[in-house]
Amino acid sequence: MLNGVPNLAELHAMPQMQQPSYPDPAAVADVVSRLRGLPPLVFAGECDDLRDKLAAVADGRGFLLQGGDCAETFAGVNADNIKGKLRVLLSMAVVMTYAAQVPVVKVGRIAGQYAKPRSKDTETRNGVTLPSYRGDAVNGFEFTPESRTHDPRRLLQIYNSSAATLNLVRAFVKGGFADLRGINAWNADFVRNSNVEARYEALAHEIESALAFMIACGVDDEQLSTVDFYASHEALLLDYEHAMTRIDSRSQLPYDTSGHLLWIGERTRQPDGAHVAFMRRVNNPLGIKLGPSTSGEDAVLTAELLDPDRIPGRITFITRMGAGNVREKLPPIIDAVESTGRKVVWTCDPMHGNTFESANGFKTRSFVDVCAEVNAFFDVHEEMGTWPGGVHVELTGDDVTECLGGVDALDEADLANRYETACDPRLNRNQSLELAFMIAERLSD
Ligand code: PEP
Ligand code: MN
Repeated sequence: MLNGVPNLAELHAMPQMQQPSYPDPAAVADVVSRLRGLPPLVFAGECDDLRDKLAAVADGRGFLLQGGDCAETFAGVNADNIKGKLRVLLSMAVVMTYAAQVPVVKVGRIAGQYAKPRSKDTETRNGVTLPSYRGDAVNGFEFTPESRTHDPRRLLQIYNSSAATLNLVRAFVKGGFADLRGINAWNADFVRNSNVEARYEALAHEIESALAFMIACGVDDEQLSTVDFYASHEALLLDYEHAMTRIDSRSQLPYDTSGHLLWIGERTRQPDGAHVAFMRRVNNPLGIKLGPSTSGEDAVLTAELLDPDRIPGRITFITRMGAGNVREKLPPIIDAVESTGRKVVWTCDPMHGNTFESANGFKTRSFVDVCAEVNAFFDVHEEMGTWPGGVHVELTGDDVTECLGGVDALDEADLANRYETACDPRLNRNQSLELAFMIAERLSD
């Protein structure tokens, strides 16, 4: 039906991990058929543009910044929240572009990041066991039997929430908000009380004078006032992703129009599994998470399955080893892939290999470990002569207290102050900017 894409029943007959168990199959079929009739959220041409930009990154001519919430929530679909995330990502990108003079490809974990793989199917509190929260796409966070029941109507709500988010993102990035001439205003409503903020302000002033000079010289390019920004999420729910797949009228090729870049998680990338069988047929640029148990052969096989034609920019490997594992685990993977002659984007997720529980019971990460993983990633690529192509981070524009350390030296007691994530702990605005300065230094070495 969809030009080589297996139909949904075929996909569900394959080994499939981390899927919801809906009580009423007829309700799922109804939602899927309604989604199939709705307009695409993104356009094939935009996915192609992103793939071209990623091809340049794979070639060492750019850097990928991918970031956003671990799990978006329906309650988080409001202007302040979306603007905050965009602002921190654009600020990080400006730091890297200006300080390291490297073009930055900007991709949000946004407008679709609503479904979560979980390590346990159930959660027990005070002797009561209920299904785990799997993201707003599947069930509610509230710990009641009603809320934790898997509900297919939520798939329509992801569509609507993603559409509303994307609409605002597009307005912000093309409608003046991202204009570099207003760079100081982006963070105007934050108190400037830390050295990261002072450093950012100084850089913003430098950029303003450089721009004033360019404009006085007659350079007034659209590139200064708008940015290209792309949406990405983990393509976890087969029903939703399949229902959002459309044939591009120009090329007659299938694209999953739920987001520009889609990634396969560490837990769903089995070579004989349904996620690989689906994603090898859609033409979006793809991310693949690789954890510390990945062998070189696994990575090569996955790349072969998903990109047999070696399309430039198609594959981004997102390595998430854990700070202590990178130097041992990453080199054989890079070696195996590079020796096939294939070019991929190598990017570092310094979050998912560094999660632990604090003594006071919060799922957290330490900023020191995050920086250590990024640094080890840069060191390994430097030693191997390969290009460290990007970072993949969980962050928010708010001053939350979910990860330890950073410029504000958050400690375990601070975690209780503003711990707001629906899933994994995110870097706050200052920690994100601090990381951006560190990456810029590594890039300009
Ligand atoms: C994630 O990116 O939120 C995630 C679950 O990652 P991984 O698949 O790498 O565990
Ligand atoms: Mn996560």
